[in-house]
Amino acid sequence: MQVIDTITEWRQALLQCRTQCKSGGPIGLVPTMGALHAGHASLIDAAAKDGNEAVAVTIFVNPLQFGHNEDLSRYPRTLDDDLALAEAHGATHVFTPSQDEMYPRPALTTVTVRDLTVDWEGPTRPGHFDGVATVVAKLFNQAGPCRAYFGEKDYQQLCVIRRMAADLEFPVDVIGCPTVREPDGLALSSRNRFLDAEQRTRAATIYKALQAGAAAFERGDDPVPCMTPDAELIYAAAVDPDTLQPYTSQSTIRLLIAARLGPTRLIDNLEVTR
Ligand code: AMP
Repeated sequence: MQVIDTITEWRQALLQCRTQCKSGGPIGLVPTMGALHAGHASLIDAAAKDGNEAVAVTIFVNPLQFGHNEDLSRYPRTLDDDLALAEAHGATHVFTPSQDEMYPRPALTTVTVRDLTVDWEGPTRPGHFDGVATVVAKLFNQAGPCRAYFGEKDYQQLCVIRRMAADLEFPVDVIGCPTVREPDGLALSSRNRFLDAEQRTRAATIYKALQAGAAAFERGDDPVPCMTPDAELIYAAAVDPDTLQPYTSQSTIRLLIAARLGPTRLIDNLEVTR
């Protein structure tokens, strides 16, 4: 596994993979912010299983997607463990650029995906999706044509990236991967480590709330009132899976939820069909 920290070497390494490969096999790109857990590992597994010529993981804590009230310095950094996990799951290349490498000058050019970013995570995290779209656009340009693997765990983010890739004609196949959960249903997240024992127990009710909403929808009821976790609810919504607007008569919908346990804000979602 090659660990690379400059854009020039990253481009060269992936280009070499493309040109050496007789089948012209694609590159599998897995963008992350590090603090890797089994959720990230499942994306690396998916990229390895798809027969990509290179399984290229990026680890970069992107300052652009953190709000003023969100503590960038508190974000967990566990590089040695991350490299071990990436290698164990079949990564062939890992990109670990510094902030100066990614942003050598203030970014005057940013990417905004309208409409999809207005609701849900949008209002509580102003500028967040611009930061995500901008860094992912840079990562796509650096990697070149590829398949890119993202988790459904961050469903709104997945929709935003899919739309950006389509609108801007990136030669990238965006692949959504299912959410990996703890045995009690809590979605794995790098933020779970901030929960104390009592909050950790209550955090499992976020997934229970999604399941209650799903059961309500399946029996023909409004799912939203049933989505009541034992946590401070930020939003609960039942939306069209593509537009993220509240559903009307669709038979397949996405349930979205965000809740706070002490200072820790968690999100989750679930697809349901009736
Ligand atoms: P992050 O490092 O938080 O930016 O996440 C990197 C990628 O891992 C994103 O595509 C996330 O959606 C994905 N991811 C995070 N948690 C999970 C999970 N529990 N299951 C599946 N994918 C996940």
